[in-house]
Amino acid sequence: MKWGLFGGTFDPIHFGHLRAAQELIERLSLDRVVFIPAFLPPHKTDRVISSFEHRLQMVRLAVSDNERFAFSDVENQRPGKSYSIDTVRYFLNSHDENLELYFITGQDAFDAITTWHQWGELLSLCHFVVMTRPGYENRGLAHILPEDIAASYIYNDLNDCFLGPQESRIYFRKTTFLDISSSAIRQNIQQGLSIQYLVPDQVIRFINEKKLYR
Ligand code: ATP
Ligand code: MG
Repeated sequence: MKWGLFGGTFDPIHFGHLRAAQELIERLSLDRVVFIPAFLPPHKTDRVISSFEHRLQMVRLAVSDNERFAFSDVENQRPGKSYSIDTVRYFLNSHDENLELYFITGQDAFDAITTWHQWGELLSLCHFVVMTRPGYENRGLAHILPEDIAASYIYNDLNDCFLGPQESRIYFRKTTFLDISSSAIRQNIQQGLSIQYLVPDQVIRFINEKKLYR
């Protein structure tokens, strides 16, 4: 089994997330992608984020019509900051040993990987899939990881990925450029502008019902 783990704040989830996940399922033959809202995102300390329950509910609504999409509230079950390494360990410990995990991030998030809690260990526990994102250039591993560690990843022609010292892989994949962000969506709502065609209709209805981002 090959599962993608797609972590994020998802405040709110949008078509940029959903379309990219769908393309990665097809490109990497993933059996499913699990969307995992962060309970307390370690990097988002500058603003008040929506409640975990609301963000989870929006994810639930957004993924409900795709049988290869799933969601998990595992990060709500741990106190304190939500570290991806704990989430990956949880999936590895609670599922079949044949489960292969692919942690999905956008280029912007991966650029900051060395600020993540226990990032070295994290990179060895699962594969990473880095998606293109408008506004963020892929400048290669040498610009993201310390020199010696970047050098320990060898390009693998056959699978078009970088193979690390502990057999874990890093894939860079082009997905359809959708210049959509949750920040811009929140801004639109604040300015009274439409968010139609950026966010699934069922999520728009939920946002309106709960009067989020006003
Ligand atoms: P915000 O503007 O609040 O930061 P966001 O749109 O970046 O929201 P996040 O929840 O921060 O959404 O993103 C979760 C993950 O999805 C990150 O790894 C991010 O890089 C990726 N991502 C978000 N939007 C896109 C997009 N349009 N295309 C590709 N990847 C994306
Ligand atoms: Mg973001």
